[in-house]
Amino acid sequence: MRAFFVVFVVIVSVFVFSNTVYSRNNGNIVSVHPFENVKQGQTVFVEVVSKNKFKNPQIVFGNKIIKMFNQGNGLYRGLIGIDAVKKPGRNKILITDNTGKLYEEKFINVVPVRYPIQNIVISGKKGGLGATKDELAKVQKAKYTLSNYAYWSKPPFNSPTNGCIISVYGLNRYHNGISTGDFHKGLDIKAPQGQRISAVSSGKVLIARKFRLHGGTVAIDHGQGVVSFYLHMSKITAKEGELIKTGQKIGEVGATGFATGPHLHWGLYINGVPVNPMEFWIKKANKC
Ligand SMILES: [Zn+2]
Repeated sequence: MRAFFVVFVVIVSVFVFSNTVYSRNNGNIVSVHPFENVKQGQTVFVEVVSKNKFKNPQIVFGNKIIKMFNQGNGLYRGLIGIDAVKKPGRNKILITDNTGKLYEEKFINVVPVRYPIQNIVISGKKGGLGATKDELAKVQKAKYTLSNYAYWSKPPFNSPTNGCIISVYGLNRYHNGISTGDFHKGLDIKAPQGQRISAVSSGKVLIARKFRLHGGTVAIDHGQGVVSFYLHMSKITAKEGELIKTGQKIGEVGATGFATGPHLHWGLYINGVPVNPMEFWIKKANKC
C-alpha cells in the first residue's frame, strides 16, 4: 500500500509540474512555466534563483524587453503575456542583464487556439460610439503601468463578479459581418444590472471614471506589470489613487458605453499584453 502511495505521489508530481522546465546553469536555477504548449492567451512565468548577484536582470522576448523583479532571497520573476494573435511556434527567451550580458537561454512553444468569430449587429446610436482621445490615452497608459511593488500574490485571482461567460477572450470580432481586424481582449461575464464587482487582487486604482466607449471603467495596478480592467459599470465606488484589497467592492454591473446588455468586461494585461483572464480565475465559469 505504501509503495502504491509513493508511486501515486510521483505520478501526481510529474503531472503537476510537467509543463515547467527547470535547469541549473552558472549557479542559477531557472524555471519557465509553461514552456511547451503555451496557448495563445496564456502567461509565461519566468523565475530565476541566483546565488550570483544579478545586475538588473531582464527578459528579451522577440523585440520586447521585460523587467524581472526581485522577490527576495535571490528570486527574480518576470511575466511574458502571450496574446490571442501571437504567431505559433518556437520562441526564444533570453535572460540578460541591462547591458545585454547573457545569463540564460530558454525556449517556449506557442500553440494556436481556435478562437471563434463573433458578429455584432450594430444599429442606431451605438454604431457611432467611439472612444474620445482622452479616453484612449488614459486606457493606453494604464495598460502599460509598471510599478516595482507587487500588490498581487500568486494566481489564481478572486472572482470579479458571478455569472456565465457571454463572450470569451480571443473572439474574432466582426461588426455587421465585416472583420474589425481585432480580437476580444477580455471576458464578458453576463450579470444583472447593479450586481457587485470586486477587485480580483490587491492594487492601486489607476482609473475610476465614466468613458464614452468603455463606459464606467475601473483599472487597477496590481504591480510588476499586472493590470486589471473592469468596463461598462453602472456605478463606480473605487477612487483613483486608492489602495484596495482583494475582494473589495469597486462598483456595480451595468451596460454603459458600447454594450448591448448588462455585463462585466474583465480584462487582464501583462506588461501591456491582453491575456485570457480565465487562466488566472479561481472560478472557471461556463458559457451562457
Ligand atoms: Zn468585452
